[in-house]
Amino acid sequence: MRVFEKNPLEKGLAERLREHGVSRRGFLKFCAATASMMALPPAMIPAIAAALERARRPSVIWLSFQECTGCTESLTRSHAPTVEDLILDLISLDYHHTLQAAAGEAAEAAREQAMRDNHGNYLLIVDGSLPGPDANPGYSTIAGVSNYAMLMEAVEGAAAVIAVGTCAAFGGLPAAAPNPTGAVSVMDLVKDRPVVNVSGCPPVPMVITGVLAHFLTFGRLPELDEYHRPLAFFGQSIHDRCYRRPFYDKGLFAETFDDAGARAGWCLYRLGCKGPSTYNACATMRWNSGTSWPIEAGHPCLGCAEPRFWDAGGFYVPLSVPTGPAQDYLLAAGALGAVVGGVVATSARGRVKAEAAVRQPVTVEELEQKL
Ligand code: SF4
Ligand code: SF4
Repeated sequence: MRVFEKNPLEKGLAERLREHGVSRRGFLKFCAATASMMALPPAMIPAIAAALERARRPSVIWLSFQECTGCTESLTRSHAPTVEDLILDLISLDYHHTLQAAAGEAAEAAREQAMRDNHGNYLLIVDGSLPGPDANPGYSTIAGVSNYAMLMEAVEGAAAVIAVGTCAAFGGLPAAAPNPTGAVSVMDLVKDRPVVNVSGCPPVPMVITGVLAHFLTFGRLPELDEYHRPLAFFGQSIHDRCYRRPFYDKGLFAETFDDAGARAGWCLYRLGCKGPSTYNACATMRWNSGTSWPIEAGHPCLGCAEPRFWDAGGFYVPLSVPTGPAQDYLLAAGALGAVVGGVVATSARGRVKAEAAVRQPVTVEELEQKL
């Protein structure tokens, strides 16, 4: 995979973090969390810390097409500045439709300038799907330019493309039947650049920053699954990591949202949970600064990180309706999950699982002694 060039004139990450008042201890915690979420062994943490300290800011151009702004909201809705926020400060976000201060011609001039100055080296982040080349270009335009023309122009000078959110990754809600705008995903259109899909509706913010941290650390993009999603975050299903799993394994299911089983925290499978067929990091990273996540809040997983989740049947319809003994329908659920999830890259996923199982915890105190 391509290794990205870095501008030697810019400050390293460590210097910028110090300027933002982040302690060495806070930085090491972030490195440990980054290693953990990327399924890397603790032995890699010193290498991550060293690489991040030296890292320079890559130029990032962020385009938003047919979307609801939920992906950007997800990224920016942290309660307090975090090291992850600073990592985002530490990329050079040269153009972002929603967050930029500039408007009108000045904004478009900034995009063109960033593309010229960093040609061949910038990261292109896209949220939202877009009308394909055969659709009416007028369905979605920015500054009079069709989404399709703007994407292809920006891709030409990009080192890699990160499709953020299920709309950009797989078409999402704009592509729901009857798909009136002929919406397609970024991956449907970009064939000559690496495309990373950070799916989710919206995506988990730490997964976005994790992909950027991987890029800053190693100068390349992470290993991907069959849907171009980073395996470190999408290698295990929601069901694999769900804290309600012991109830599933015992056949204890809530039947309604307010029955005794629901109040006791039993499994939400019969209420339509798509956790067995959904690969995402919600169960481990959670939402809103790690406060909670949908299943912990009592709602089944909708499968929002999977292709075609929007047209895959009712959100509250179980994957299969158990009728026989617990063993039978648990097996059926597993089989159906495998089908709905598509052809899974079992060997790579198995490796991620095995690595996670033997990973040793490491404390910040141990790191401080090593570094
Ligand atoms: S079916 Fe859903 S609620 Fe039940 S264990 Fe799996 S992911 Fe958790
Ligand atoms: S729990 Fe499921 S539906 Fe909810 S955000 Fe996570 S992957 Fe999406």
